[in-house]
Amino acid sequence: MDEKDMGTDLAKVLISKEEIDAKLAELAELIDRDYAGRDLLIVGVLKGAVMVMADLARTLHSPVTMDWMAVSSYGMGTKSSGVVRILKDLDTDINGRDVLIVEDIIDSGLTLSWLLSNLQSRGPASLEVCTLLRKPDAAKVSIDVKYVGFDIPNEFVVGYGLDYAEKYRNLPFVGTLAPHVYGG
Ligand code: 5GP
Ligand code: MG
Ligand code: MG
Repeated sequence: MDEKDMGTDLAKVLISKEEIDAKLAELAELIDRDYAGRDLLIVGVLKGAVMVMADLARTLHSPVTMDWMAVSSYGMGTKSSGVVRILKDLDTDINGRDVLIVEDIIDSGLTLSWLLSNLQSRGPASLEVCTLLRKPDAAKVSIDVKYVGFDIPNEFVVGYGLDYAEKYRNLPFVGTLAPHVYGG
């Protein structure tokens, strides 16, 4: 799917595929350096992080292992409540492991904050976070994120794994939607 398949749904491209690729290459270089000689497990948070995981993993030179978690915020609406339920847990025992959580976006940070304390309680050797996008203006909790792709304005974005009502995940870029898509 691409810009030309979007009809009038797309308002604008915020981050192009080329910018994403270049940023992931930068982040991969840092991660390769920081984890050199270690046995890194990268954990993707489904479903949004699928694209970041796939592209980041292929850009890394280190032989990482990959696992997945699916979590869901309880409650209604589009806002995160911070009360999180595990839909799919890790297959891996992370006790004593170097773990890097890979996220699509950090908005309020409530989901990630919950996830961090959940995983921390399993006794990993180290636990860090890599996110493609972060909305600094939306943060409700402060989280120490080691690898950040882009800080973006506090607006709703789709593409590159991120959905609106499960659509637009397969856009190769990150963009915003026209108001009519939301029924506006
Ligand atoms: P948080 O707990 O940080 O508020 O929410 C994190 C989750 O909310 C993300 O993993 C993502 O699923 C969703 N989310 C937050 N902001 C956006 C956004 O701008 N666009 C989309 N599509 N999802 C978002
Ligand atoms: Mg996510
Ligand atoms: Mg979503």
